[in-house]
Amino acid sequence: MTTLARAHHRVVLLGGGYVTLHAYAALMRRAGRAVRRGDVQVVVISTDDAHSYHGFTGEVLAGLLPYDRTRTPLTEAMPHAHVVIGRALSIDAERRVVRYEQSDEPGLRILDYDELVVGTGGREPAAAVPGLSEHGFTLRAPGDIAVLAERVRQAATHRGPRRHTVIVAGGGLAGVEMAAAVADLGGARVRVELVHSGAHLLPELHESQPRLARRAAQELKRLGVRVRLGVRLASVTADHAYLSDGTHLPASTVIATIGQRPVQVPGLDEHRDPRGRLVTRPDLSVVDHVWAAGDAACVVHPRSGGPVPANALWAIKGGDHLGANLARSLRGRRTKPFGYRGLGQAASFGFGRSISELYGIPFTGWVAWVLRVTFFLRFMPSRRKAVQVVGDFARVARHGRMPGGAAPSAPALADVVESASVRTA
Ligand SMILES: Cc1cc2nc3c(=O)[nH]c(=O)nc-3n(C[C@H](O)[C@H](O)[C@H](O)COP(=O)(O)OP(=O)(O)OC[C@H]3O[C@@H](n4cnc5c(N)ncnc54)[C@H](O)[C@@H]3O)c2cc1C
Repeated sequence: MTTLARAHHRVVLLGGGYVTLHAYAALMRRAGRAVRRGDVQVVVISTDDAHSYHGFTGEVLAGLLPYDRTRTPLTEAMPHAHVVIGRALSIDAERRVVRYEQSDEPGLRILDYDELVVGTGGREPAAAVPGLSEHGFTLRAPGDIAVLAERVRQAATHRGPRRHTVIVAGGGLAGVEMAAAVADLGGARVRVELVHSGAHLLPELHESQPRLARRAAQELKRLGVRVRLGVRLASVTADHAYLSDGTHLPASTVIATIGQRPVQVPGLDEHRDPRGRLVTRPDLSVVDHVWAAGDAACVVHPRSGGPVPANALWAIKGGDHLGANLARSLRGRRTKPFGYRGLGQAASFGFGRSISELYGIPFTGWVAWVLRVTFFLRFMPSRRKAVQVVGDFARVARHGRMPGGAAPSAPALADVVESASVRTA
C-alpha cells in the first residue's frame, strides 16, 4: 500500500491535462474548505509534471510566443493537491484502487480512492504510420513543440542552398494551423506541404461554415503552403515522406495531426467504445465513483446524441462538470446530467489573422483573432502566464517578431531537447 496518509475522503485524478485541472477547480469551489482542512485529500498522478496549454501551439511554432508560456507546473495550478509524477498502470473499480509507478522510484504502488477521475487524454496513432514515431513529430509529448519550433527557427535562418521541407499530415484545424505557423516562421527558407486524406480541408467546418473553410484555404495560399488532398501519409523515413498514392516527397520534418486515440489505463474494459474511449453516463460517471471526460472518454453531446468533439473546450467543460458532480457525490447528494451545448471553434494564421465560429456566427481577420485570443487567455490555467502572453503580443504589435522567431527560453529548451532524445533513444 502507498505511504500517503489517508484523509477522511480521497479523490484521485489521473493525468495533468484540462480535465484534471478543471475537475480540481470545480471541486475546490464546492469543497475547498474540506480540502484545506485535510478532510478531503486530492491526489494527482500524471506522467507530466506540467500542464500543456495546446491552444497557443501555433503561436509558439510561428515564433510569436515562447514555449514556456504554454507550460504550467501542476503544483502551481493545483496548490492543494498532492502531485505524484508517475504513470497509472491499472484501475480496479471493484476494490477502488489504482496501480501506478512513480517516475523517480521504480516499483508498483497501489492507491485506494473514494472518487477517481480519468483524464489521461489521447495520443496520435503514430504506430499506424511506419517510421512516424522515429522520424516525425506528433506534438503531444512534452517538449515536442519546443524542439520543432527550434528546428524551424534554425531552418528559417540557415544560409545554405537547400530549402527545408516540412510535411504536415492532417487537414483538420490542428493541421491547418500548424502548416500556417511553420510557413509563417519559415518564410522563403522553408517549404510547407499539407497532406490531407479527405476531399476538402477542415472537415469540421466545410459543411457548416464554408466561408471560413475558404478563408483558411486562402490564408494557406498566401503563406505559400502547398495542399495535397485525397492522399494519406503512408510512411516516414529520416528524409522522405511516402504517400498513399505511391509518390514520395523529400522531407526534413514531418508533423502528424492525424487524429487521436485515447490513452487507455487498463481496467473498466467493458465500459469502452470500439475506439477504446470510456463511455460515460449522463452525469459523466463511468461506473459508481469513477468519472471521465476529455480525449480519453466518449461523452454524449446533449443535443446531437453523438460523441462530443475531442478538443480542449469539451475537456474543460467535462472536467468542470464532473468535478462538481464528484463534490456532490462526496456529500451524498444527487448528481446532475451534463448539459453543455458548445461554443465554437477557431484557428490562427499569424498575428491578427484568424477564423472563428462563435455560436454558429463566423468571424475572420482581426475580430476573429481577438475573439480567439480572449477566449484562450480566459482558459489559461495560470493568470501569471496569461498576463505574460498579453505582454508578448503587445511586444509583437510594437516591434514585430524577433528575427527568426522567439526562441524558447534556454533552460527550457535544454531540458526538452534532453527529454526528446531520451524519448527517441
Ligand atoms: C498540437 C495540438 C494543438 C491543439 N490545439 C487545440 C486548439 O487550438 N483548440 C482546442 O480546443 N483543442 C486543441 N487541441 C486538442 C486539446 O489539446 C485536447 O483535446 C485536450 O488536451 C484534451 O484534454 P484532456 O484533459 O483530455 O487530455 P490532455 O490535456 O492531453 O492531458 C492528458 C494528461 O494525462 C497524462 N497521462 C497520460 N497517460 C497517463 C497515465 N497512464 N498516467 C498518468 N497520467 C497520464 C498526460 O501526461 C497529460 O498530463 C490541440 C492538441 C494538440 C496536440
